[in-house]
Amino acid sequence: MQVEALEELREEVVEGLRYVHYQLGANTGKALEVSSFLYALIELLIERGIITEKELNERKIAVADRLVKKFQELGMGAVFQEKEQDKYGFDDVQIDCEIRRHLCKAACCKMSFALSREDIEEGIVKWDLGHPYMIAKEESGYCVHLEKTTHRCKIWKNRPVPCRAFDCRNDRRIWLDFENMIVNQKLPEVFERRDGQGIKLK
Ligand code: SF4
Repeated sequence: MQVEALEELREEVVEGLRYVHYQLGANTGKALEVSSFLYALIELLIERGIITEKELNERKIAVADRLVKKFQELGMGAVFQEKEQDKYGFDDVQIDCEIRRHLCKAACCKMSFALSREDIEEGIVKWDLGHPYMIAKEESGYCVHLEKTTHRCKIWKNRPVPCRAFDCRNDRRIWLDFENMIVNQKLPEVFERRDGQGIKLK
């Protein structure tokens, strides 16, 4: 069991590193191409007396400052929740999951979504090492924080905003009739999809 867990961990690390290496390679190639064009252009402009080196250096400092800020906002290639909201101050959708999870089998815990900076910094919610910073999921498509037999969230108090905001009441993929607890019979088919498309945030 321990060997299996270690092997799984290794695979996750390998996938994560592959992602990082791929991004590094792609970025280096692109940076080289852009640099070549840029230096060529600068040389021509200076040669023809259109700009001076002094002007160029001054403008470079101002632009670099702007770009650094932009990159920081974007999370440097990693995906974050678009709208950062304090999850502990969030007005959670109120649904009595307890009486329903034996029917819906926690369908919402198959969602794919990006975590917030709050989640990452807190370090409780696990993210997919191969796809930063998406919620970590198991082979089955379920979130890694779901307790398999009871379908309960193991980190309920710390769960991310999309889990708090998801409202299954009018989601026909899950409920044909929410009030009368009639679940969509096609739900198992949705569950079987392993491509992350099974249950997606609308
Ligand atoms: S964090 Fe909890 S509520 Fe959210 S998807 Fe995972 S198991 Fe479900």
